[in-house]
Amino acid sequence: MTSTISHQVAVIGGGNAGVSLAARLRRAGLTDIGIIEPADTHYYQPLWTLVGGGCAPAAESERTEASVMPQGVGWIKDRAEQIDPDAQTVSTASGTTVHYDHLVVCPGIQLDWTAIPGMAESLDSPSVSSNYRYDLAPKTWELIKKMRSGTAIFTMPAGPIKCAGAPQKIAYLAADYWRQQGVLDAIRVILVLPTPGMFGVKVFADELERVVAHYGIEVHKNSEVTTVNPDTRTVTITDNAADTTQEVGYDLLHVVPRQSAPDWIKASPLADPDNPGGYVQIDKNTMRHTRFDNVFALGDAGSSPNSKTGAAIRKQAPVVAANLQASLAGKPLPASYGGYASCPLTTARNKMLLAEFDYTMQPAPSIPLIDTTHERRDMWYLKRRGLPFMYWNLILTGRA
Ligand SMILES: Cc1cc2nc3c(=O)[nH]c(=O)nc-3n(C[C@H](O)[C@H](O)[C@H](O)COP(=O)(O)OP(=O)(O)OC[C@H]3O[C@@H](n4cnc5c(N)ncnc54)[C@H](O)[C@@H]3O)c2cc1C
Repeated sequence: MTSTISHQVAVIGGGNAGVSLAARLRRAGLTDIGIIEPADTHYYQPLWTLVGGGCAPAAESERTEASVMPQGVGWIKDRAEQIDPDAQTVSTASGTTVHYDHLVVCPGIQLDWTAIPGMAESLDSPSVSSNYRYDLAPKTWELIKKMRSGTAIFTMPAGPIKCAGAPQKIAYLAADYWRQQGVLDAIRVILVLPTPGMFGVKVFADELERVVAHYGIEVHKNSEVTTVNPDTRTVTITDNAADTTQEVGYDLLHVVPRQSAPDWIKASPLADPDNPGGYVQIDKNTMRHTRFDNVFALGDAGSSPNSKTGAAIRKQAPVVAANLQASLAGKPLPASYGGYASCPLTTARNKMLLAEFDYTMQPAPSIPLIDTTHERRDMWYLKRRGLPFMYWNLILTGRA
């Protein structure tokens, strides 16, 4: 059955970005907002690192989508499939046409599990897991818990991904657990990173060099796992700087897939034709589409070159809310996003390094008085308790 709905503001995606933005717009007095979101469940994905590390239960990361939907916002429980920016419409899987005055695009990022041969199939095998899936994060912890010797490999793919720190955080949580159990010396821990350094900002990279040295982790930089063979329990590690490959056997493998914009976004007129990831082409400061003035994007699906994190969304949402309201009123856009992102790097089971930075790739600390550029115990409680509380109670309600 086909139908047409109209909203002054239509939001695609009721995840971190969509819900927090819609809540802000409601608080600002907008009354005609619709969120297109097919899922019944809303996830706080940052907790999955702690779930995989055995430091939090998976159930704490999920709530019903209905419980986070801001009051007064129309929920179109459907999947967006096509955008026609000239007609100002979004078509959904069930055949509904959503007409909008202004559109906000935030359907998140796509996990390209099949981009690396063997990776998708390997997830069903007994020794492979990934914290990038809710259902698999508990398996990561089961594998870590039972390991007493052998080789553990943790991978990070090339290209932008959500939370670029997550592939290494789980390696530290695992290594610290094995250290506590007295078995770390019997385990060869390998971390495969596509980057030339441990992190893009020097002060944090230096701290992480100390962390990997402390655990004796073998880091393969400029490298990527390019095939996974779950039958022989081996991976191919390609060193892109040296142009060499090697086969390495594993007893535990934690994989992170390559990521890109959802395929239907890539194929839409909103995609950035010059960006291989196919993200929604926006101005990196105003978050407005560079070709369609009544379209904005934020979160993982946008082309702004910040680190794709919820922390970035916390700073993007007020900017999009202010600029969108100005745009509705036909006024110049008043707000600018400076690229802030942060990554709470869990370096041990009770320590965290809060890496905060912006487009300048310089540290951008936001917590007064304490030095967060080094791993600290008090920061652990921020990750385990403070940030989840803030997410459910302040961020999703448009208060922070
Ligand atoms: C393991 C892991 C660890 C992380 N750790 C951290 C961390 O420590 N700190 C941090 O700040 N960030 C972290 N992140 C990243 C953070 O979770 C994301 O950056 C954030 O969730 C992105 O928000 P978003 O709204 O853009 O996308 P999402 O929150 O993924 O939401 C996208 C929404 O769009 C919906 N959707 C998808 N397709 C469609 C469609 N076609 N039509 C309509 N709706 C659609 C989805 O159902 C979903 O509800 C982590 C992520 C992972 C996976």
